[in-house]
Amino acid sequence: MSKHTVTLIPGDGIGPEITSAMQRVVEATGVDIAWEIAEAGAHLMEQGGTPLPQETLDSIKKNKVAIKGPVTTPVGSGFRSVNVQLRKELDLFVNLRPAFSLPGTGARYQDIDLVIVRENTEDLYAGVEFEEGSAQAQELIEFCEKSGAGSIRKDSGISLKPISVSASKRIVTWACEYALANDRKKVTAVHKANILKYSDGLYLKVAREVAEQYEGRLEFEDRIVDACCMGLVMRPEDFDVLVLPNLYGDIVSDLCAGMVGGLGIAPGANIGTECAVFEPVHGSAPKYAGLNVANPTAELLTAVLMLRHLQEPEAAERILEAVRQVLAEGTAVTYDIKRINTGSTDGSVGTQEYADAVIARL
Ligand code: NAD
Repeated sequence: MSKHTVTLIPGDGIGPEITSAMQRVVEATGVDIAWEIAEAGAHLMEQGGTPLPQETLDSIKKNKVAIKGPVTTPVGSGFRSVNVQLRKELDLFVNLRPAFSLPGTGARYQDIDLVIVRENTEDLYAGVEFEEGSAQAQELIEFCEKSGAGSIRKDSGISLKPISVSASKRIVTWACEYALANDRKKVTAVHKANILKYSDGLYLKVAREVAEQYEGRLEFEDRIVDACCMGLVMRPEDFDVLVLPNLYGDIVSDLCAGMVGGLGIAPGANIGTECAVFEPVHGSAPKYAGLNVANPTAELLTAVLMLRHLQEPEAAERILEAVRQVLAEGTAVTYDIKRINTGSTDGSVGTQEYADAVIARL
């Protein structure tokens, strides 16, 4: 029997290519993993199925650890995002997105080492929405008017932003515990409490209460999200671990990914009390699907996070070091990295050839 069993969800778009590259690299470290392949994605809908089959959920619940490729969410089709569904079904309340500098990526910033801890289960992603013109939207608009809460234009669509004491407490506590366990010095809670008094205001109040318990062990501060974005691009060294409600976490993590070289290299993890699902920040990049051109670095660095979680730090660090070497050498890199560094994609290699170069340096 293998030491670890991991659910592997190739996903769709560029997902199958980058996950197969990742699987080959992880196997080349010699780490003992049995992969249980499970499906999710838009292609299952075309075959008359559901984009997130029950067997896939069951496999993750059984194995407790999964790694996936991206999954397409068709716009405006009524198809709920598989990723949002997975996070809700498995209560994966943490979205961990580290952003750190790698050599040879052509990034605008060097020496970045930030960790984004994004709340994953509520806020504007809770999925409580009312379509423009629906009876429910009209009822809600009338209720707001009658109760004196405020007036909303009659031709509005409405998305609710729930922020709870319990979810805020557990995400800020998780961020503080993560900071301590990983020798981080500071946690910044990000919000817009000056405008959104009952949602972000509550988040900030809870964050301050949690932070009090870490006094003397961690530095804590809060920032308003817009000022935080400016601060990140002007003085990134002022930040360490950032903890944010769902929407700001999504936006700020892409900002940080951009600072270190873009989506092709940004890893991520969704973590709950029972299960963890590892996935890169980027999406399915449908226009590159099947072309063997996508950069698998984000998926490889996602595997590094997974291997650390599986208590396989040696394999994790070997992959990270091999990726660093390939990027620093700059010859066997994919089109996106080549273009940033030379202004042209000439001489770039494919997804699998890049994986081969990483394997050769393990
Ligand atoms: P995207 O991340 O798929 O792609 C945006 C652009 O970034 C691409 O066109 C490409 O130029 C570049 N890019 C992304 N990943 C790359 C890689 N590995 N190598 C090289 N270049 C890369 O974002 P999008 O176009 O907004 O979304 C496409 C689909 O993916 C949508 O349906 C969206 O809902 C979905 N999505 C899924 C996830 C997920 O599964 N976790 C995350 C984000 C978006």
